[in-house]
Amino acid sequence: MSMRDVKVCLLGESGVGKSSIVMRFVTEKFKKALESTIGASFMTKTIYVDESTYKFQIWDTAGQEKYRALAPMYYRGSAAAIIVYDVTRETSFHAVKSWVQELQRHGPSKIVLAIAGNKCDLEDLREVREKDAQEYAREIGAVFCETSAMTAVNVAELFDAIARLLPPEDMGAGL
Ligand code: GDP
Ligand code: MG
Repeated sequence: MSMRDVKVCLLGESGVGKSSIVMRFVTEKFKKALESTIGASFMTKTIYVDESTYKFQIWDTAGQEKYRALAPMYYRGSAAAIIVYDVTRETSFHAVKSWVQELQRHGPSKIVLAIAGNKCDLEDLREVREKDAQEYAREIGAVFCETSAMTAVNVAELFDAIARLLPPEDMGAGL
């Protein structure tokens, strides 16, 4: 059984739930008041998908998303990126576009891109239609799903989908 190391970086406006998604995925818990992400740069979790083992190394911004331009080491070596917005905050969805540009400018040229519309448990407060986001994701060739870090909707599924889309492993021989 093969084992792959997969670096994933999270992008998106402050407050959309990036850290909560990482917590949900890694610890299967949701905390109302998450300590801000200062310090710790990544968390790891290993999953099994289609007979392969994927060791995810998930990089979460340490609150630097406010400054928009993240350090190059944040992107370096990433096989996948998840851009998160908040379905109850339209501005955070508009910001997805500029995160895509930021990634094109500073990220690896080949990367599996996923867009997550988080907080889908807050249906009454919704400002972004699922269909609009779905359409945008299709245009740019990104995986898309709505998630809830709070109720655990689609969080594990998001990472499964990413694992399935990773290109076949480079055998290293430069063939
Ligand atoms: P970050 O700045 O993108 O890392 O966002 P956080 O993970 O710190 O979350 C920001 C706020 O949104 C916190 O108050 C979280 O409790 C809340 N939050 C995160 N995910 C969800 C979710 O799926 N549903 C709801 N209702 N609240 C969420
Ligand atoms: Mg955070």
